[in-house]
Amino acid sequence: MNAGSRRFDTVFEDCRVIDGTGNPWYRADVGVQGGKIAGIGVLNPCEAGRRVLAAGKVLCPGFIDVHNHSDVMIFADPAHEAKVRQGITTELLGGDGLSVVPMTADKRAEWQRLWAGLNGLHPEAWSASTVAEYLDKFNGRTPVNVAYLVPHGNLRYLVMGMEDRPASATEIHEMQTLLAQGLSEGAFGFSTGLSYVPAFFSKTEEIVALCEVLGRYGGVHATHLRSYGADMPEAVEEVLHSARATGTPVHLIHYQMTRTNRGRGAEFLEKIDRAREDGIDATIDSYPYTAGSTVLHALIPQWLAAGGTEAMAARLKDPEIRSRLARELESGSYDWDSHFFACLRTEQGKALEGKTIAQAAADSRKPVTDFICDLLLQEDFDVSCVVRADNEADVQLIMRSPYHMVITDALLLGSKLNPRSYGTYPRYLGHYVRELKNLTLEDAIRKMTYFPAQRFGFQDRGMIREGMAADLVLFDPDKVIDTATFAEPLSFPKGIEMVMVNGEFVVEDGNRTEALPGKALRRS
Ligand SMILES: [Zn+2]
Repeated sequence: MNAGSRRFDTVFEDCRVIDGTGNPWYRADVGVQGGKIAGIGVLNPCEAGRRVLAAGKVLCPGFIDVHNHSDVMIFADPAHEAKVRQGITTELLGGDGLSVVPMTADKRAEWQRLWAGLNGLHPEAWSASTVAEYLDKFNGRTPVNVAYLVPHGNLRYLVMGMEDRPASATEIHEMQTLLAQGLSEGAFGFSTGLSYVPAFFSKTEEIVALCEVLGRYGGVHATHLRSYGADMPEAVEEVLHSARATGTPVHLIHYQMTRTNRGRGAEFLEKIDRAREDGIDATIDSYPYTAGSTVLHALIPQWLAAGGTEAMAARLKDPEIRSRLARELESGSYDWDSHFFACLRTEQGKALEGKTIAQAAADSRKPVTDFICDLLLQEDFDVSCVVRADNEADVQLIMRSPYHMVITDALLLGSKLNPRSYGTYPRYLGHYVRELKNLTLEDAIRKMTYFPAQRFGFQDRGMIREGMAADLVLFDPDKVIDTATFAEPLSFPKGIEMVMVNGEFVVEDGNRTEALPGKALRRS
């Protein structure tokens, strides 16, 4: 080969290449041409439209976030800086069984109202009705690539509304048909959010029946369990059973220990070990923080939501129901000192962001149950919270598991959101790899790149190899670190220097460019 004749759009010179497989780093130049990785090795002399002198910094595949809440917010703010500045180049949307499609015009308003606190409101995303229509909206509109899981909650809501009962055989068949349509339109699997309504009202048979459809099309069942509290062992068994009964892969999202299960990380990893030994194709993920986030109405008993948002609003006003709710909240494992407000809708509500529920209730001089009911009505259910678990030992243990991958689970709304939204990937690389040496750099990057790509079927992503899409991150391994904290969560990381998506820079010298080179990936 005549090396002098080669031409690249961009050449990264003298990189420490970490290829995404977990293999040790090696030194090489990497050339990009036409949006793909086109050369690896000693590439000079060559012609290059652009040369980036890496000088021994790390070049790795772009990070793949397989659980997040960007589904709507990516349209509200296409710069998407919280994610892109971490080095994220692909996001799998449709998580927790709750997303925008499939949806029908007559049902959309209530669904939006219920999940505004999780996903946000933007008319562009919410105008799609099918998976195909939704995926078509992304071309030329987003800095990152996106892929989709068909959300089970949408299917159940379309077929039977918010009814608190098991699905009939006919209703299950209708859900199966909707799932098959979404999968045939390019989704990479389906997601469940079994502690959220309306999925909370389902029985295991319904999940098994949907996994049977998944088995025919291929793809992964990604699940938010029915419980992360005292009933978590049964909740894990439920989804392992669905996988065992149908031979389908299951991915347990945010496999983290809440306050109730603090210290039990080893025991829960053991469950996955045993399942895998038994031939169940199970994997997990987590984010590197000691707190979770969710919407307030999902933290209180779910019978309140039966029948839909109008029924829930009526119950929240009813003094007898408030008494019943107060009894349940008092006898439950609620610690309102560990719940912090992240995002509220009204100006009055926003003043509470950063306060604990316990403090805000005390300030209001109301009993906590009345305070919560009044607040949900005032904010039209649009309230999200950070819930502290203080489970650092479990966080460190779980991230070392070989079948674990990295996610942000980022909500992108509010002034006091969980710092995972801005800091997850740099926190792994700086804090858990460099400072604590809890993982090797190569293994951490495998969990962010090739492992999620292989797991969910993104065939041309997640690895530095000729012919793969040029989704790349260049970072300084001595400087990379998160800066977002619970007190100041809206803070970009340091040390992520260049981020490329499909051959175009979305971050250059640490700053967001205006490029929107992302595409919708479809399972073929
Ligand atoms: Zn979740």
